[in-house]
Parts: sequence; structure tokens; C-alpha cells
Amino acid sequence: MVFTHYQKTKSKHPMPELSRADLLRGNWGRRRQVQCYPPGALPDTQLESRCTRCGDCARACPEGIITAGQGGFPVLDMKRGGCSFCGLCQVACPSGALSRQQVQRLPWQALIAPNCLATRQIECRVCGENCDAEAIRFELAIGQAPRPLLALDACTGCGECVRACPAAAITLISAPDKDQQS
Ligand code: SF4
Ligand code: SF4
Ligand code: SF4
Repeated sequence: MVFTHYQKTKSKHPMPELSRADLLRGNWGRRRQVQCYPPGALPDTQLESRCTRCGDCARACPEGIITAGQGGFPVLDMKRGGCSFCGLCQVACPSGALSRQQVQRLPWQALIAPNCLATRQIECRVCGENCDAEAIRFELAIGQAPRPLLALDACTGCGECVRACPAAAITLISAPDKDQQS
């Protein structure tokens, strides 16, 4: 498992250059935030041609995280919680827009931004405590708040850390080479 620091990401999909204005406005990461379709979703255009926007997937989700996104198509709102990969949305989908194949990871990954409380020397381990995949560990240094390190290969994209972070420092970014079924 390879851990990476938020200030030295080794992602295959590095962040784009951000202007000073972006950083001052807190725009870190926003440009690459992903449209989080439910697990098993067909690729964008196929999903939009199959999905009838019936809302059955949202009603089936025990986590209550599926909401109507752009155009009324279902998206996961990770500010409400994380996906438990139960697959109930997939089973509920009558159109085939969500496949029934078992999904254990989603095609995106967490990104921890520099507004993480650790950069202000405030101790907080909430993201790690909420990560069932144990993809976040903490780097300890004498006299400093522990800093979160993210293992990109272990991150399932579940989104639990997004909701949990008290500083709203975690976003999800696209990881197109991730296999949803792996
Ligand atoms: S897999 Fe389960 S928890 Fe995840 S979005 Fe679908 S219904 Fe909700
Ligand atoms: S259940 Fe299927 S068809 Fe209905 S809104 Fe969800 S993805 Fe679209
Ligand atoms: S998205 Fe899920 S698996 Fe990835 S770091 Fe956050 S809690 Fe852990």
C-alpha cells in the first residue's frame, strides 16, 4: 500500500495548476470534482439514454445519498454520507442504467486539500476514523499535528471521509483507470 501526502500527491491524475486567485477563493479541487453516479452506472451517455429518472434507486438507498443531479439523473451526494456498496440501488433500477454487477469500488478517489486542520496544527483524525478501507493513516512528527496520508490504491471512493471531515477539506476526483468491480 503506497501512502501519499496531500501536499505531495503521487496520483496518476495530478491536480491541474491552480492560480493564486483559485487558492485564495478556496477553489482547490473544484474543477475536477466528479459527477458521482451510483454504483454500476453505465458510462455517461449510455446512462442518460437508458435512465428514465424514475428515482427508484434513490428510494432504495439505505444511506439516503442518491439525489437528482444535473438533468435529473441520479448522483451520489457524499455530503450526506458514504456508499456502503450494498447494491440495492442497482437491484432497484428497472432500466438497466445501473448494472447488477457487484461493485466494490467507485471510479474516483479522495483528495485531501491543504485546508485540512493539520496544516493549522489542529489535531483531527476524523477522516481516518471513518475510513473502513483503512486508506488514511497519519504521519506523526514531534511538535506537529498528525498529518493524513492517503493510500490511493486502497481508497474505494466510498465518500465517507467527505461527509466526516469537519473542515470540508476532502473532495472526490476522477480515477478513470479504477476498475469498479475490483
Ligand atoms: S450501493 Fe447501496 S449505499 Fe451505495 S448508493 Fe447504492 S443503495 Fe446507496
Ligand atoms: S432507478 Fe435506474 S432508471 Fe430510475 S433513476 Fe435510478 S438509474 Fe435512472
Ligand atoms: S473515499 Fe472512502 S476509502 Fe477513500 S479515503 Fe475516503 S473513506 Fe477512505
